[in-house]
Amino acid sequence: MNEYISRGAALEELNKPITMSVCLDKTDLAIKRMQRDRDAAMIRAIPAADVAPVVHGHWKVVQRHEHYPSGKSYEAYYCSVCGIRSIEYGQYCPHCGANMIYTEVDA
Ligand SMILES: [Zn+2]
Repeated sequence: MNEYISRGAALEELNKPITMSVCLDKTDLAIKRMQRDRDAAMIRAIPAADVAPVVHGHWKVVQRHEHYPSGKSYEAYYCSVCGIRSIEYGQYCPHCGANMIYTEVDA
């Protein structure tokens, strides 16, 4: 399974200053800076992955009392992102794909 990271965050991490405290001498410092520049160039050269940011939402559970002549109630599940009702709830909204992190129950 692939994991995706931010190119900007990786470059930011690489661009942290290299201090003499982590180097043996000035030659070692120069080598570490060249390695850092090489690593930054490699990170910039990697093509961007075709990914979208994860959208988080939650299910709003609403008790419904209509439609059943028996008077029984049922639960309706509404996505907090797209607002579309679903007949069942799961980890992802089947309409917009939002990742549902919790369920909110309306009385
Ligand atoms: Zn949705």
